[in-house]
Amino acid sequence: PSLVRPGADDLERAAEAALRPRRLDEFVGQRVVRDQLSLVLQAARQRDRAPDHVLLSGPPGLGKTTLAMIIAAELGTSLRITSGPAIQHAGDLAAVLSSLEEGEVLFLDEIHRLARPAEELLYVAMEDFRVDVVVGKGAGASAIPLALPPFTVVGATTRAGLLPAPLRDRFGFTGHLDFYDAGELEQVLTRSAGLLGVVLAPEAAAEIAGRSRGTPRIANRLLRRVRDWAEVRGDGSLDLAAARAALAVFEVDERGLDRLDRSVLEALCLRFGGGPVGLTTLAVAVGEEPETVETVAEPFLVREGLVGRTPRGRVALAPAWTHLGLPVPPSAGG
Ligand code: ATP
Repeated sequence: PSLVRPGADDLERAAEAALRPRRLDEFVGQRVVRDQLSLVLQAARQRDRAPDHVLLSGPPGLGKTTLAMIIAAELGTSLRITSGPAIQHAGDLAAVLSSLEEGEVLFLDEIHRLARPAEELLYVAMEDFRVDVVVGKGAGASAIPLALPPFTVVGATTRAGLLPAPLRDRFGFTGHLDFYDAGELEQVLTRSAGLLGVVLAPEAAAEIAGRSRGTPRIANRLLRRVRDWAEVRGDGSLDLAAARAALAVFEVDERGLDRLDRSVLEALCLRFGGGPVGLTTLAVAVGEEPETVETVAEPFLVREGLVGRTPRGRVALAPAWTHLGLPVPPSAGG
């Protein structure tokens, strides 16, 4: 798996656990969301009531799970974690809901992937603190309402727009997480280095931050690889030279592009003269599935203004040529 993709597997999540900020004031960046949350949480504490349900939206690796944990910690309650894809039947969700204790926080990751029946059950639970437990089958089936103690749902989604309006409306507020700027990532890295017990030179922090695609998860991951390099091939210090050498070994370039990203750019510029070229043709040229190119490499290349999407296919924009050290043809946009 690439070092610069935003998703995480279970192993990585375990490594991340040690680096998670535990309280709101340790959480770096996202000033607007932090401010909104601090207000909502403070008000809930003053009233001694569970706060409104909170929806967090934003790309992977920006801190949605971390914020859910912080919300529970700040409320002095516990967090229960599940996700849309993990709930196969409405009954699974009913079981989770009916086991919640008063004031607990339920984190529902990838809430946009909840199946329809579970989603409908969730509306009622969020609004009326009730689940209808269905007993019996067919014509003889009946629903027995079961009252739930007050609790707070923290839902996470990569795009709030993916949620059906009725579900979205059940949340008291939506916090939008955005990519972090370089200075914020440097703060994340310096904090993480401290927790790992290593000293990170400021120039090294800046170098890693610049390659982390605005994403704390990627920053922390690159930091762990730089530490590996420093301990095995260097003299243990995490300085600029170590950062550069480590990231060269792992083929993460100055802009945070990896091998696949660069081969897409190279194919676009060198084989197809900058395009436009269709997704399938482009994918064949780099030896990948079209879906991989489209979902794995393209989003960041488009976000960075390196690649454009047109009705006739993908095109290399001027910064792509520059990034590859090639002269920019007059036809290149961007
Ligand atoms: P996913 O949707 O993929 O689960 P996520 O948005 O829930 O991603 P987290 O798991 O919360 O992301 O964060 C990923 C890693 O980045 C964690 O190790 C966390 O400690 C770190 N991190 C995220 N945001 C911040 C922040 N604002 N300050 C410090 N560390 C952060």
